[in-house]
Amino acid sequence: MAIKFFNTLTLKKEIFKPIKNKRAGIYTCGPTVYNFVHIGNLRTYIFEDILRRTLEYNGYKVKHVMNITDVGHLSSDEDTGEDKIEKSAREQKKSAWEIAGFYTKQFQKDIIELNIEPAHLMPKATEHIKEQIGLIKILEKKGFTYKTKDGIYFNTSKFKDYGKLGKIDIKGLREGARIEKGEKKNPTDFALWKLSSSGEKRQMEWDSPWGKGFPGWHIECSAMSTKYLGQPFDIHAGGIDHIPVHHQNEIAQSEAAYDKPLAKYWLHGEFLVIDQKKMSKSEGNFITLNILKEKNFNPLSYRFFVLSSHYRKPLNFSWQAMEAGQRGLEHLYNQVSNLKKTGNINSNFKSKFLEAINNNLNTPKALAVIQKLLKSKLSDSSKLATILDFDKVLGLKIKESLAPAKIPEKVKKMAHRRELARQSRNWQQADKLRQQIKKLGYEIKDTKV
Ligand code: AMP
Ligand code: ZN
Repeated sequence: MAIKFFNTLTLKKEIFKPIKNKRAGIYTCGPTVYNFVHIGNLRTYIFEDILRRTLEYNGYKVKHVMNITDVGHLSSDEDTGEDKIEKSAREQKKSAWEIAGFYTKQFQKDIIELNIEPAHLMPKATEHIKEQIGLIKILEKKGFTYKTKDGIYFNTSKFKDYGKLGKIDIKGLREGARIEKGEKKNPTDFALWKLSSSGEKRQMEWDSPWGKGFPGWHIECSAMSTKYLGQPFDIHAGGIDHIPVHHQNEIAQSEAAYDKPLAKYWLHGEFLVIDQKKMSKSEGNFITLNILKEKNFNPLSYRFFVLSSHYRKPLNFSWQAMEAGQRGLEHLYNQVSNLKKTGNINSNFKSKFLEAINNNLNTPKALAVIQKLLKSKLSDSSKLATILDFDKVLGLKIKESLAPAKIPEKVKKMAHRRELARQSRNWQQADKLRQQIKKLGYEIKDTKV
């Protein structure tokens, strides 16, 4: 069955045609490792995980590359401000390398807890300085760059397709720009290489043909995607905030350098919003996975919550919605736990599932197929086999939820005391015991009777 994606490049839903038969190269922009990622970032990584798993489910051999931005991302998109990693290092009195290493590890832990398949390659910007300088040299030779007192810039007016991603009105953007242009020739121009300013001692800086400094944020993705996936590659994905600037700039650099497209399909996920605002570190309205866990949420119930909405629609976060997500996942686990043995996958339901997921990753519809299947007249063993098969895409760890755990006596006794507390409507005591049990690594699932 054909797979269709909404392509931001054409603003149309298109049938996916791989460059190489049954292979797919995917590049997704990874985190800037100066702080914990928040659950908004993680929404995007879950969507990209569904993208990868869908391709794999359809028999594609996927090569997934996600970069780690450990240098060059400045506090403002206008190439000004402090490097986020150096700033965090100063504030936390650690070295920039320690900061990057620590938050990279934290990020990797978060994605494992959400059952996100780690990318096959996670290249770091700091380990690809040579490649980035090489690419800037090509752009310089072809006349796309100019020098200012603080760095080497890309001249966007020389790249005729600038703005083609998402068909952005660049002329309007340039005219309406309130951006302090400084020495930039056009407001949309961006830094390829920033020079360390005299008097400043950066922890992360390198020699280059233009002087000591560090790469601009966008160049790492162009250099590393081409190195590991070639050019063009199949699919580039990220959050919608990257359409007007970051991805536009990646396209400009790579296509100006090599005169061929960077990627064939561009997929963008909508935001996680909270009180009608994008969840973001700068707004200070962000929630991390650790906070969810402290409140006794299973990370996979966040995954379930994310899957219950389409990736191209904004998703509103609230604690009630999160509780509904937790209940939804627990309900599904309970429904499946009644099925016991596994048998044959049902092809009729499998095609319904494929129809949903292959149609631009329609996860809410895919979840609805599971409910239809559970209500159908199929045998329990066939239901179970089919749902476990679907879970290769959904990644809700349904199989693991079935494994009978060996529960220690102590935990059993605590659970019994909690049940008594519940029956006598002593919610406070019941909740306390639930949390103590959770600390011991067990979770109580209440089933409806
Ligand atoms: P950043 O570290 O800001 O580059 O973000 C990492 C990824 O998370 C990018 O793909 C962003 O587009 C995405 N992202 C940032 N904020 C949100 C949000 N509130 N909801 C969904 N994705 C987001
Ligand atoms: Zn990128």
